[in-house]
Amino acid sequence: MTLFEKYPVSITNSLSGKKELFTPLKSPFVGLYSCGPTVYNEVHLGNLRTFTAFDVVYRYLTHIGYKVRYVRNITDAGHLTNDAGEGVDRIEESAKLEQLEPMEIVQKYTFSFHEVCRIFNILPPSIEPTATGHIVEQIEMVKKILANGYAYEVNGSVYFDVRKFMEKYKYGELSGRNIDELLEGTRELDRQDEKRHAVDFAIWKAVSPNHIQRWPSPWGEGIPGWHLECSAMGTKYLGEQFDIHGGGMDLKFPHHECEIAQSIGAYGKAPVRYWMHANMLTVNGEKMSKSKGNSFLPRELFTGSHPLLAKAYSPMAVRFFMLQSHYSSTLDFSNEALQAAEKGYKKLSNALGTIKKLDHPGGAGKQDEELLKLIDEAYRNMSDDFNTAKTLAVLFEMSSRINDIKSGNYRLTDLDADAFQKFKSAYITFMEDVLGLQEEGSQNQELLDGVIRVMIELRKKARTDRNYALSDKIRDDLKALGVQLMDGKDGEISYTIE
Ligand code: AMP
Ligand code: ZN
Repeated sequence: MTLFEKYPVSITNSLSGKKELFTPLKSPFVGLYSCGPTVYNEVHLGNLRTFTAFDVVYRYLTHIGYKVRYVRNITDAGHLTNDAGEGVDRIEESAKLEQLEPMEIVQKYTFSFHEVCRIFNILPPSIEPTATGHIVEQIEMVKKILANGYAYEVNGSVYFDVRKFMEKYKYGELSGRNIDELLEGTRELDRQDEKRHAVDFAIWKAVSPNHIQRWPSPWGEGIPGWHLECSAMGTKYLGEQFDIHGGGMDLKFPHHECEIAQSIGAYGKAPVRYWMHANMLTVNGEKMSKSKGNSFLPRELFTGSHPLLAKAYSPMAVRFFMLQSHYSSTLDFSNEALQAAEKGYKKLSNALGTIKKLDHPGGAGKQDEELLKLIDEAYRNMSDDFNTAKTLAVLFEMSSRINDIKSGNYRLTDLDADAFQKFKSAYITFMEDVLGLQEEGSQNQELLDGVIRVMIELRKKARTDRNYALSDKIRDDLKALGVQLMDGKDGEISYTIE
């Protein structure tokens, strides 16, 4: 019996608003898509909350035995400041501001996003497609929608025809918006407007020749619509219909609503079976966002350089802070909350360090039902709509037991060796693999190892260059710091730290 059979997963599906039993289309395979960043500036902590939420979904589904293909895209073209496909192009705007080429902006912020993910222990997805790498697929999809009669072309731009679509299908189901309300709520179209109805949205947008990012298409030179990118990339790698699609709550409308309409418009079927939305990270109750000026960058957190921060916080303490609430609740960011999270994380991390070093002397003792029940509870909580908050509560219970063992209050010899092994491996697995919480200091250890390896390489180079003065200096200076280099037989150099 696999873990996913033993602990069936339920997911709150934003489409129905209800918690539903998760049954993948082709179990044990699971297709998971989550909207990635628009790489026009640095991601802030709000963005990271959403990426962390889906990182945990990916980690847990994989842990319980599903074969997950996780696609998280990079939006590197076509995202305009207005979600309806109007306004200024975000990447072009940043390129102008920073006096760089759009693709330099894309490269710079993709790199910085990856770096932040690494620091936060957010796993790389199985596929990370870019919009600029899938222009052909997007053009093909626009053609299909046009051929099916759900779009129209005006002056080189192609718009999705929401009214026409609604003659046959529903629009607004995911976000629960009533289209008549939407029509009333939106401004009147002025005469120059190319759209037939205010709710229509661009799936291909003509741009002028001075727009640097532009591609040829059957309708002239232009850029893909932002909503279309996700539809085209999701379909390409996960199929016309796949299991889970995630993103932040703010993307429900219009982004995800448009994705549904586009896929139905092109292929006649709803693209996603379970829609999941992570709630917002807030500051004093307000959504954290770059435009509101209330955003915190990861770098500012780790260095404590933001004026509103009392001190620096470690990446794992911040990750713990995010996991302390269920992904579907809002989470408010404050110094107090971070300080509390830091304490909580340290407790769990200390217990992790302790249990890794603990070994059972062997032998059959009693089967402590209570300890085994804790493992069971951790699985039940995670399978219950990925409830990380409740899972952390179980890990706290477990960490108290670990401390009891350490202090001798609970003798290992009283416990069955097998039961202890199960308990030990469950604690380590839930901390590291499922929640992605590394032991405090282990990241510094990796960094230190990397730096020493660089020094060893430099020393090798100095030797081949016959610069013995430099190679000796590197060896002696490292030695003074307590790092002893040792020459191996095959020319490999290893080291020990005193
Ligand atoms: P963007 O790069 O703006 O497309 O955003 C990337 C992801 O971050 C999307 O899934 C957004 O929904 C999400 N996001 C943006 N702001 C917040 C926030 N304050 N809290 C949680 N998620 C957010
Ligand atoms: Zn998307």
